[in-house]
Amino acid sequence: MATPMGGAADTVRVTAGSARADQASMRRSNLGLILRHLKDHGGQSRARVAAQTGLSKATMSSLISDLVERGLVTEGELERGGSVGRPGLALHLDGRHVCGIGLEINVDYLSVTALDLVGQVLVESTRPIDTVALSVDEVVVEVANLLASTMKSLRAKGIRPVTITVAAPGSIDHARGVVKFAPNVGWRDVPLVADLTKRLGRTAPPVVIENDAKLGAVAEHAQVSAAGIHDLVYVTGDVGVGAGIIVEGRVLRGATGFAGEVGHMPLDPEMRQCACGRLGCWETMVGLAAFLRLVADPGDPVLDPSRALEERLEEIHRRADEGDARTLEALRRIALGVGSGVSLLADVFDPRLIVLGGYFAFFSDHLTEPVTAEIRRRALTETVPEVTASTLGLTSAARGGAHLALESVFRDPGAVDPPRAASRPA
Ligand SMILES: [Zn+2]
Repeated sequence: MATPMGGAADTVRVTAGSARADQASMRRSNLGLILRHLKDHGGQSRARVAAQTGLSKATMSSLISDLVERGLVTEGELERGGSVGRPGLALHLDGRHVCGIGLEINVDYLSVTALDLVGQVLVESTRPIDTVALSVDEVVVEVANLLASTMKSLRAKGIRPVTITVAAPGSIDHARGVVKFAPNVGWRDVPLVADLTKRLGRTAPPVVIENDAKLGAVAEHAQVSAAGIHDLVYVTGDVGVGAGIIVEGRVLRGATGFAGEVGHMPLDPEMRQCACGRLGCWETMVGLAAFLRLVADPGDPVLDPSRALEERLEEIHRRADEGDARTLEALRRIALGVGSGVSLLADVFDPRLIVLGGYFAFFSDHLTEPVTAEIRRRALTETVPEVTASTLGLTSAARGGAHLALESVFRDPGAVDPPRAASRPA
């Protein structure tokens, strides 16, 4: 025990220290508050931002200078409409110098997207890969190479990636950065964050991982949040079938991160063997493999895995447009199967919107209507959720990853270096 005097002095020091820490943390959280406000409400005058966030004008002024210096906010263009009187200069999100990167590892392809802070697409590309045929190490090398070349092109333009989110087709242990189980690529307990961080080297931004369907849902929510839609279910049809569930604006992870693994709901009366080990999973009924089995026999070029998936799906779509009976029957069966599963999800989560993604979106002109009819047929109430198709194509998980990567900036804008300092050679 310290002497009373020493104790008193220590107490004073600790209090001063924690007061400074409190101030710093309050400042960081206020910087984030302004940034999120501008993201959600668009360009606004200082006065309006101050009024709506409850910050004093003096505090605002200092915070805005900080955000402008960091290249995250710009002041210009007159504020339009709204208040009467002389229009003022409006504050806008800027953030051209920072970006979030999302990369999706799929069974058939890698897809990468970079978004600036405003959400504009800076990079978007997809390349075919046969993930199942490659070892985990080989996939990690491919992913690291794609990330390295993407970051190189962004940095050449003075744009700094803040975080990388990698989407994996399986369940995720967020705390350990491990892909716990991804049956369709044959992965179990893959320490993806550690592997990628090692390959990318010390200058790379932090890497986080998330389930692909959850990130697809994040991307879809970003598309409709301005319309006030914050409850949605995104169902993606791929080799696996997964869902990302947005409840009150937040992606639902569940206690172990497994929420949304809807592909393994026991719905298939034919009780086929699933890659997960169970029988009769929903994805054995409506997943991409089931669809391809329904549309074609072995030897048909649409089953050739060396061809890009989009090309093969386009060919199947052409057959449907030409009225090919087998293709149309396959789509009818898929629609019924999708409808039965999403009806269940609608009952459980009561979403405003159900978004069909993956190959379901590719065939939305054949699926949206019969899926809606099936939901209506099974519905317990008169109001049923609207069914739409994702417009983001095969890039939606990567895009959701990029959105999630940018969250770190909104959470702590103070961690972003000013553009000039950031572009100094390391
Ligand atoms: Zn299964």
